[in-house]
Amino acid sequence: MSGVLEVVGLRRTYGTVTALDDLSFEVPAGRVVGFLGPNGAGKTTTMRAIFGLTDLDAGEVRWNGASVGQKERRRFGYMPEERGLYPGMLVGEQLEYLGRLHGLTAADAKAATNTWLERLDIADRRGSKVETLSHGNQQRVQLTAALVHQPELLVLDEPLSGLDPTGIDAIGQVLVDQAAAGCCVLLSSHQLDQVEDLCEQVRIIDQGRMVVSGTVDELETSGARRLVVRVEGDRAADWAQQLPGVSVSELSAGAVRLVLDSSVNSDDVLRAAMQAGRVTEFSFERRRLSEVFREALT
Ligand code: ATP
Repeated sequence: MSGVLEVVGLRRTYGTVTALDDLSFEVPAGRVVGFLGPNGAGKTTTMRAIFGLTDLDAGEVRWNGASVGQKERRRFGYMPEERGLYPGMLVGEQLEYLGRLHGLTAADAKAATNTWLERLDIADRRGSKVETLSHGNQQRVQLTAALVHQPELLVLDEPLSGLDPTGIDAIGQVLVDQAAAGCCVLLSSHQLDQVEDLCEQVRIIDQGRMVVSGTVDELETSGARRLVVRVEGDRAADWAQQLPGVSVSELSAGAVRLVLDSSVNSDDVLRAAMQAGRVTEFSFERRRLSEVFREALT
């Protein structure tokens, strides 16, 4: 499997609200890409547009360079934010039905359903009604619904919300494995720590516009240097407040996180810290994705 999703110049207005404002980005095959942005940024609208569920004022969605239509969408998988399963239908029946809708034979749909239910550790719920499942198990079924026909592109709207750590690991691993097998994976989430663990790339949007796009690695290693310093017994870090070219970005549990201008010599910071007391930690750190996110939106 290989492919690239391109959204090109998407524009969507609702009355006076501009939900998407000339939004363009790409999602390459073989990567898990995080789609981030504050509430109301336009993530769900974009995902719905990929599946033809939102009328656009302008723009186009392309798959491997060609405009996307219903034929291509049969090879895509979507996990919507408003989970779209039939609550009264049995889990197994529903998944087989969805597999057949996407073009699988009855036998293949059954085999794929069984494989995924086993993989997500919910094979024992095959004969249960969806409405009787816990939230986490409904999420697993919903993920299976998006995966059952082995799509080339997976688009997931907040697949990790409300899951316990085991559920996050289980679903996260499935997404990583799908990408490793060549699938394009785009997921939205507000849980940036998990995005950091799971996603190789991110697209951050705000007010319907692209603000940051890149690999997590590049974004975390770019920008000003971050230094974490701990001085024994010192919880206020007064020594750091007045250093030229240095700003305190966070103080927690006795460690101070500093952002250094390019002109600052870190030896000077170390000397200032040593004058304040015994230095028990002094390390350069990457930007966190949460910092990348906050800085992108200011
Ligand atoms: P969240 O993180 O809160 O889920 P989001 O990034 O998914 O947000 P969208 O749901 O795409 O954001 O909404 C983008 C903007 O479009 C918001 O201002 C929202 O109020 C508006 N919007 C979305 N759907 C509609 C609609 N059907 N009618 C009117 N406005 C809408």
